[in-house]
Amino acid sequence: MGGDHAITGTFPTLDHIIAFKEGTAEFDHGYYRFVSHPRLRQLEAELKSRFTCRHCRLTESLETALLELILCLHAQGTRSRIVILKEEGAATPFKDERFLPACDREGVSVLTLAPTEKPASNLGRSDFLLIAPGKKNDNSPSPQSAAIASTVSAALAQGAHVIAVVTAANGEVPGPRPEVSEAQFFVLGLRAAQGPAKAGAVLGNEDAIMDQLVQQMKRRGPMLSSRAADCLLGSGSALSTAPEDADAAAARVADALCRLEGGTRAFLYSSGMSAITRVLDLLRQPGKSQIVAVGHLYSDTFQSLLLGENLFLEVDELNSLENCVGNQTAAIFTETITNPLSDVPDLQALSRTARAHGIPLVVDNTIASPLNCNPFEFGADYVIHSTTKYLNGKNDHGGGVVIVRDPRAAQMLSDCQALLDDGMSPLEAAALEKSLGSLRERMRRFNENAVSVEGFLAGHPGVKRTFFNANPSHRSYATARRILKGPGSVIGFTLARDTWEGLRAFYDSPLAGIHKAPSLGSDVTLLCPYTLLTHYENTDEELAKIGLPRFLLRIAVGCEMDIAPVIASLDEALTRSG
Ligand code: PLP
Repeated sequence: MGGDHAITGTFPTLDHIIAFKEGTAEFDHGYYRFVSHPRLRQLEAELKSRFTCRHCRLTESLETALLELILCLHAQGTRSRIVILKEEGAATPFKDERFLPACDREGVSVLTLAPTEKPASNLGRSDFLLIAPGKKNDNSPSPQSAAIASTVSAALAQGAHVIAVVTAANGEVPGPRPEVSEAQFFVLGLRAAQGPAKAGAVLGNEDAIMDQLVQQMKRRGPMLSSRAADCLLGSGSALSTAPEDADAAAARVADALCRLEGGTRAFLYSSGMSAITRVLDLLRQPGKSQIVAVGHLYSDTFQSLLLGENLFLEVDELNSLENCVGNQTAAIFTETITNPLSDVPDLQALSRTARAHGIPLVVDNTIASPLNCNPFEFGADYVIHSTTKYLNGKNDHGGGVVIVRDPRAAQMLSDCQALLDDGMSPLEAAALEKSLGSLRERMRRFNENAVSVEGFLAGHPGVKRTFFNANPSHRSYATARRILKGPGSVIGFTLARDTWEGLRAFYDSPLAGIHKAPSLGSDVTLLCPYTLLTHYENTDEELAKIGLPRFLLRIAVGCEMDIAPVIASLDEALTRSG
């Protein structure tokens, strides 16, 4: 769905979803963080063949590629020291090596050596040797080639991880220089010959590590835009886009999002998860690293927060918030409307506690959109969106944004973005810009259509229960009326036949006019069996603990001019499968 740059794909039947989750079928299209766009796969195939590597994962910059690889290797165990081997006189190919300690402020140290200093004898199993051979990638031997080659061999013999950094401009994909060809991992920085596009990539042959890296990156969110991949492959309409025009579009989009939320600065990222990850990584400090998470959060945010000593509270457990927050707390994190149960946390209560303890309140406002809520008005410090959703609406853009008011927060994000070069591709920003003008009108219809659809579902005998904050029986109804200007259009529901068979009979119905796809905030209505898609592996006990019914469906109502055909289609499927 979404044309050439689709960010999601449809699952026509439940069996397609099962095949996706079990990994028994390949999908050409799927949600953009989970199924690489065909253009990304094409670029990855070219790089794999050039480097004779089995695995490749693309990102938005060389720096994020390196950061993710080091985090992944670090998570394997004890690896801690990063030794950078620089060619004498050569600048490091990444903009600034200061971002490396930021990989993990509790364990990694950086030591920079010139190749002639031969650091091999100092290297052990807990070290990374990072070879940064400057800008020279023409495969001709440099005066230091022999020293580099012997250092690589010695480091490998001692069990250190060897990562070679390779950069290329003008659309070149150079391949590894002979003296680093034994490296276990290659980290690439690429730049298009024509058009405003760049990329990072990690290549390697270690199956288990590369698989873990891909899983980590899917969750944390660094992404290469399919538009940027097009440009790097020398195809696509963006080839004729001047870099200045693309940058100007990105600046206009950031300004527009800032105004919509009432912030002072907005920072664009390659995905919603990338925006969330960056804020949380920056706010965590050694000894002050706990996040207090409120509400049933988006599955990948929740999964990320499971790694660490974080605390989880339901929206109706705010009485215990005061006891949870302490010197160890880095931030309170919540979503304005949770997905897909439609809970609405009391942002005012959260911000009172956050203020009292001098810690920031971070709010993911994706499901409300800036038209239904402006969290700054209730005391939020960081407001985040996956721009992939309502802000775009067309299923042809992926991205994220962080908006702030405080100049110190803005400086911190700006410094980090300069180090990691992890901004949204300007080509992706230009696609987003096209949608923003209609947001106000679209959101009005999203809200109205959702009220109609939920009213229908709640009154249908084929439906057991709905979860929607505008329904007076919802536990967040009163809070929602205080915090929200509209309910959004994400509705959770269970069927009266709340079984595998019931779910299959309903989901496998034709459902004309409804797209059976993940994602939300799309201009056309989307439906998915939410729990199956996001919590496939969980046991009944685990699901009960987080309050998710196994056969829960999510309908993300669209902003169609006429919602009657969607309702008629639901009626037919419910009646037929009931
Ligand atoms: N926040 C919420 C509430 C979401 O629903 C999602 C994705 O569905 C995200 C964040 C992550 O955004 P993205 O998929 O663009 O990384």
